[in-house]
Amino acid sequence: MKSLKKGAITLSLAGALALSAVPLNSTVVEAVGNGPGYGGNETINTSILTTYSEMADFLKKQDAKQPQMELEVIGQSVKGRDLYVAKYMSNPENPTILFLTQQHGNEQLTTEGALEFIKHLGTGKMKGVTDNVNILVVPMLNADGAMGDVDFSLDDYVASGDRNLPRYNAVGVDLNRDHIDKIQPETKALHENVMSKYDIDYMIDLHHQGASSERDGELVSGSILYPTTPNADPEVVEGSKKLGAVVFDAVDSTGWGHLGKYRGGDAETISRNGIAVEYGISTLLFEMRGMSDHEYEPYVLGQKSNGYLIKQTITTLESTVRAIADGSIDTQDTSFWDTLAFQQTRETE
Ligand SMILES: [Zn+2]
Repeated sequence: MKSLKKGAITLSLAGALALSAVPLNSTVVEAVGNGPGYGGNETINTSILTTYSEMADFLKKQDAKQPQMELEVIGQSVKGRDLYVAKYMSNPENPTILFLTQQHGNEQLTTEGALEFIKHLGTGKMKGVTDNVNILVVPMLNADGAMGDVDFSLDDYVASGDRNLPRYNAVGVDLNRDHIDKIQPETKALHENVMSKYDIDYMIDLHHQGASSERDGELVSGSILYPTTPNADPEVVEGSKKLGAVVFDAVDSTGWGHLGKYRGGDAETISRNGIAVEYGISTLLFEMRGMSDHEYEPYVLGQKSNGYLIKQTITTLESTVRAIADGSIDTQDTSFWDTLAFQQTRETE
């Protein structure tokens, strides 16, 4: 345990450095652009977020209500929480997409959106879609982190409420650096009982980043990226770019959405690269704006933005399943990637 905790500190610093060029001694970020920032005076209360048990209850209720849905336990977290996959597999011949949320415990709004998406799949709103596309949803992979049930201190975390949400799992490991070794029970469950078990064509890995990235002078609501490792098959990468084209069109055209190109590395320990190489799946990383909690204040976004960020997740999931179901994903123009600017970190005074 001790060595793992030590690992967490190293990862935490590395994470902070990788995530931002914001000087660590900078003052509070101004609330500007696409939504309110934390600004030191906005409420960040984690009590309004769905708890793990509320999520489990919700999934079981939807499972009972939706004939086309099947809920399966894929394994347990370090602390023994059941991890779920919600499956819509009407025809093995259909193309299949996987949505993964909250590998990082403090990135919760992606899960809130995914649960709403699951609810929509059981209503007339999405009628007929699941006849032509198979859908897998793994929500809240880091269930222990999401509940703050971890073996390290959360004393310095910013949010108030009944729990704090760290990035790492219960023993301080970053699950999205464990996709080659698959040592943690959460990552192992995902690979053994989802990745290896189904013939998956597409995957969107949903995250949150800091709150002060901008593209073309305006704060982004999120940023996207395809696999960048040189070992990924070019056809797989092209599929990722098409997936990204669907997401960009659906989100960036809404008026409230503004997407940039994420600056991401080539490491295959992260899912965007590792899963593309290991399984030949066209992956897309989606990094939404602002985290639900963190030790570092400017990463955390006030809850006034929750509405549009949850909506951004729902829009992303619904637009991509529709495009795969009707085949329009195959004719997507991927040339926008060549002109889409990388996000930049907004300079603070
Ligand atoms: Zn993340």
